[in-house]
Amino acid sequence: MTEVYIGIGGNLGERRENIKNAILSLSDFIVDLQCSDFYRTDPMDYLEQDYFLNVVVKGKTSLSPLELLGKTQVIERNGGRDRKSKIPKGPRTIDLDILLYGNEIYNTEDLILPHPSMNMRKFVLIPLLELDSTVKDPNSGLPLYIHLEKIEMQGVYCCSLNSYNNLFL
Ligand code: AMP
Repeated sequence: MTEVYIGIGGNLGERRENIKNAILSLSDFIVDLQCSDFYRTDPMDYLEQDYFLNVVVKGKTSLSPLELLGKTQVIERNGGRDRKSKIPKGPRTIDLDILLYGNEIYNTEDLILPHPSMNMRKFVLIPLLELDSTVKDPNSGLPLYIHLEKIEMQGVYCCSLNSYNNLFL
């Protein structure tokens, strides 16, 4: 089993429901799942769109990195994600990014690990470090938290105290 971190977000439809459904689907092949708080996040890159809701989940899986990517893409499709959308980084129902797969460093056309933008995104780093503040960047060996103080405000607001355990109450 390998410890994995997955970022989940979306800004179309019932954001919270979409995220909960994605986590339920992940529990088919990830055990010991833990979920961060929910964060409301201002859009980045393409700014003419509504706010996002984001979480990070952590757990253990016996799937290989590419198997895991395949499964997360099925969850995106089942959640109504339209990959043919003409706007890159535009509105989406549900987006799953594999942030970390153990300490694996992976560089293929389909999968890059650790996720290439995670160190620049507060909406990834804050919930990830909430789950484990000691996580290190597999590329540099340095603690991930050092990136947090280097990036400017990005409009990331904690908007719940939900843990995976009370998500379904
Ligand atoms: P996005 O539109 O931001 O969800 O990007 C999805 C594309 O990024 C897919 O074509 C994936 O094959 C690729 N990709 C590369 N590395 C990763 C990763 N660590 N997690 C998820 N998708 C990835």
